[in-house]
Formats: sequence, C-alpha cells, structure tokens
Amino acid sequence: MAPAGEFADPDQDPGTQTEAQGQGPGKPLLVFDAPKRGKPPRHFADIDPDDRKSVLAEVGEKPFRGDQMARHYFGRLSTSPEEWTDLPATRRGDLADRFFPPLLTLVREQRTDADQTRKSLWRLHDGALVESVLMRYPDRVTICISSQAGCGMNCPFCATGQAGLTRNLSTAEIVDQVVRGARDMAYNPGDEEAPRRLSNVVFMGMGEALANYRPSIAALRRLTEPVPRGLGLSARRITMSTVGLVPGMRKLAAEGIPVTLAVSLHAPDDELRNTLVPINTRWPVAEVMQAAWEYADRTGRRVSIEYAMIRDINDQVWRADALADLLTGQLAHVNLIPLNPTPGSIWTASRRSDEQAFVRRLQQRGIPVSVRDTRGQEIDGACGQLAASDL
Ligand code: SF4
Repeated sequence: MAPAGEFADPDQDPGTQTEAQGQGPGKPLLVFDAPKRGKPPRHFADIDPDDRKSVLAEVGEKPFRGDQMARHYFGRLSTSPEEWTDLPATRRGDLADRFFPPLLTLVREQRTDADQTRKSLWRLHDGALVESVLMRYPDRVTICISSQAGCGMNCPFCATGQAGLTRNLSTAEIVDQVVRGARDMAYNPGDEEAPRRLSNVVFMGMGEALANYRPSIAALRRLTEPVPRGLGLSARRITMSTVGLVPGMRKLAAEGIPVTLAVSLHAPDDELRNTLVPINTRWPVAEVMQAAWEYADRTGRRVSIEYAMIRDINDQVWRADALADLLTGQLAHVNLIPLNPTPGSIWTASRRSDEQAFVRRLQQRGIPVSVRDTRGQEIDGACGQLAASDL
C-alpha cells in the first residue's frame, strides 16, 4: 500500500495550491496531499501475488493456501470461510480473520431503473464514506468505483469536489468495490435475462485515481490479471479517468495495461478550463492533450474526451469548433455528459437545443461523439453527484 498523500510522480509533487483563479483567500484550490489517517487493515487484495507465498510463510501457513484463497476471492467472489471447503476447517476462520478483514461496510443501497442501477454507500474502517454505482445494460454490467474518499481537485460543478479530500483508498478498498459489485450481480441479479457477469469498470466515482497512483495501478493489475492472480477482467473494458495529471498520464502509458484513458476536459480553452477544472492552472490544455496522444500512440487505445455540458458556460458552438480543432486527426472520441444537478449549485445542464447544435458541429467536423445516458440521476448516482452523505 502506498503512503497517504502520494502523488502521481513523487518528483513533481505540486503540493497544495491556494488562492488561485477566483477562489477566496485561504481556500485550498488543489489538494494532492491526502490527510494522514490510520491505514486500513491489510487485506488479501493488497498483497502482490508474487509475495503471497512469503506472506503466508510468515504466519506459518502452506504456500499454496494463497492460490486457494485467491480462487475463492477472485474466482468465486467468496469471502465466507465456510465456503472454502478445500481448506482445513480448523484454519479457515484464522485465515479469513488475517487476510479478509471487512473493509467496506454497506451503509445504504439505493436502486433505480427497475433495479438495473444500484448505488452503494460504504463506510470504511475509519468512518470515511465512499460510493460505487453498479449499472446493468443489455450487453454489459459496469461498475463505477471510487479511488479516494472525496477529491482534492475542487472542480466547482462537482458535488464530490466541493466536499474536499478525506483520504486515499488502499488497493484492496478499490478492488473490493468491484468484487462486491460482481458478487451482487452474480448472486442477486434480479432480472434473469440481462447479463450477470460484471464486465466493465470505470474509475469515475469519487476521487482522482492518478492522484492516488500506486494503489490505483495495483488495483488495475488485480482487476486485469487472470485468476488466481486477479479477477481476470479485460483491460479494454476498464476506463481510467483523469482531470489531466500529466505526469500520471505518462506513467500510466508506460505501465503496459492498455486500459481506456478518459480525460475530463470540459473546456477546450485554458481561460474557461482554469475555472472549471482548476488543475488546468498546473497543466494546461495543450500539455494534457499532448500526454493523451502519447497515451493513444503507446497503447493503440482511443482516448475518451469527457465533456460535461454546462448551460451557457461551455456549450457554445464556437467551443465545439475549438474542441474539434484539438481533436482532428487524433485517436479520440467525445463523450458529452449532460450535467447532473447538484444541490445548491449554480451550474446546470445545457438546453437540449444547445446540446444538439454542439453535437452537430462536432459531427460536421468528423469527430466521433456520443451523449452519455444519465443513469442513476434520481439517486444522485450519476457523474459529479457522488457526495457520500449518510443522511
Ligand atoms: S470532477 Fe472528478 S476530479 Fe473534479 S472534483 Fe469531481 S471527482 Fe474530483
């Protein structure tokens, strides 16, 4: 597990910026150093598969128990020792206590879309709250997970950002959200017709995953490596989202895990993006785009450009043109997101006519574009709405 407060590139840790771009005096603008809190207990998913044998030897256990437990956890999605019938009954309880401490306690689950969308609020060992959202479609099951409790990036239109950064999640706290979602789908699917196997993961819940780099990358490895090393999901079906932490984007490109990179751009010009996405004051649009194209070159993967449509702020046709100028000739796809309302926010969704005009202009310019559905809006489970309140 990485120390709390780790930044994407230790050599370029920018620390905390304050008082920039219209923020009031003393209000932190960008927070990279997560508050230090007690580490979560070590969990099996925190252990690198190459270290399992030695870790088991330390507790006087046979080396192959690691693979056995991995097949239960990653393969059968089981953390109930009574189901581990290939392990001696006398050892199961002790191994479960040592390696499978409860990390995520379900506080509340909300369902909508005829149970096809399920938002879970989890309490962590220290009381911090995070959320994940499971979405079932005719052809896939996707889970949107959190990488931090809160977020330090302070995007003004985002409920998570307004609540600030509580702490980084550990590798296992990230992975276990996926395992819990996969188990829910496998054993408690509701509609028998739709797919039951969790297939897609998006790091688009609470937090900026590249600001919690090492645990997020270790989680990616656990999610993509085959059983018994991990869950065996396809890297192509995993999306890592970032607001544009350029050093982290470059490091991710070198990891050799060809996940889809999603860049939350939200504005094509620095003037507006400095306000909407404050990290832009550190790495402006041109640098973020350059890192995105390097990622596409290195992985062969199309970069997803996320663009929340905010009424009268970033939804003008001239900005569609400016966006097209950035993307022409590149391996990119634009994902327009109708902004979800957040309580008390001045930011609101674009008019339908403005959204359509924006889409048309991108299409005329030959830029692939889609408009994301707003699954989960009525349970505050859509993008930018995860605020983890237990009220
Ligand atoms: S939009 Fe993403 S990066 Fe920005 S504050 Fe919200 S969670 Fe953080």
